[in-house]
Amino acid sequence: MSITATRESVPRTASSLHLSPDVISTPYLSVVIPIYNEEESISTLYTRLTTALEELGCSYEIIAVDDGSRDRSFAILREQAQQDPRLRVVRFRRNFGQTAAFSAGFDRARGEVIITIDADLQNDPADIGRLLAKMDEGYDVVSGWRARRQDPFFSRRLPSIIANGLISRITGVALHDYGCSLKAYRAEVVQEIRLYGELHRFIPAVASWQGVEVAEIPVHHEARKFGQSKYGMGRIVRVLLDLITVRFLLSYSTRPMQIFGLLGLLSMLGGLIPAIYLTAIKLIDYSVSIGDRPLLLLAVLLIVIGVQFISLGLIGELVVRVYYESRSQPIYAVREEINQAPKVREVTA
Ligand code: UDP
Ligand code: MG
Repeated sequence: MSITATRESVPRTASSLHLSPDVISTPYLSVVIPIYNEEESISTLYTRLTTALEELGCSYEIIAVDDGSRDRSFAILREQAQQDPRLRVVRFRRNFGQTAAFSAGFDRARGEVIITIDADLQNDPADIGRLLAKMDEGYDVVSGWRARRQDPFFSRRLPSIIANGLISRITGVALHDYGCSLKAYRAEVVQEIRLYGELHRFIPAVASWQGVEVAEIPVHHEARKFGQSKYGMGRIVRVLLDLITVRFLLSYSTRPMQIFGLLGLLSMLGGLIPAIYLTAIKLIDYSVSIGDRPLLLLAVLLIVIGVQFISLGLIGELVVRVYYESRSQPIYAVREEINQAPKVREVTA
């Protein structure tokens, strides 16, 4: 039996990961970087990251996930990876999004602790030590908080402040900055969570709900020097929709009737009130015509359609979840890998 096969037959629990025979040769830290068209930043990032990691003095691997870049990002990564076996590169077939990139990194990470960091030099690798120190205090997830965030106010910071407030309220896990990519996780925590959509930002909420300790520390943040942000205002809507999903999955996924039933009752009530009102008018004065009230029709129609859409969306989310979890189908497709290490987790066949 090959080593890989033995590893893959080990169940994916925390203790078995630690007890696996090759634990000594695996690195302590895995740094996961999502990369989409960041050719100008990669070399500087690599230098600053390796300097910071060398200073920490622990064993590490860097997993750079090229999310279908159309610039020279992959070529630069390949060149560096040929000189440094600790740099592992995964190249996607197309752009699958930042969540998929994180997911591929987590699937491949062998370290006990996983660090995520953006490739655009907005996060400072020198902060990694502080994340780890916080983790040593007994936390399983330590999230960075861009306390002095260097992004435009109206298009970035304001939506982010509102989103963080909403997410904190709705998930019950109060963090200042869900969107900061610089985070540290205990590997077993993050590897148990299946990711899709824009869900990577909700990992602390989901993890905390599973009973792990989440902390937050302020980290540095710099303005983007090269390239452009990969996101526009559309992200706000996507994050809001994901928030509804997360809330739903956290509280109602095991008893969908609680929410569907409630919505159904509410909508029936919303329909009954105008219906009773119209019936009453008709009964009091038979000559009044109630069939020509377009506004009323519109209101009823909108309510019904709204309810239908929400319900369908939630059922869809459940189906998607079942689909991904039962087939353990990854949410990305890989073109090639450099410095590929034996898999610890089961990924694609
Ligand atoms: N990114 C990615 N795939 C995408 C979009 C972004 O891998 O489809 C990477 C990007 O290269 C960067 C990180 O995710 O390393 C964060 O993206 P960006 O800086 O554009 O987001 P912002 O800082 O504006 O929130
Ligand atoms: Mg950025």
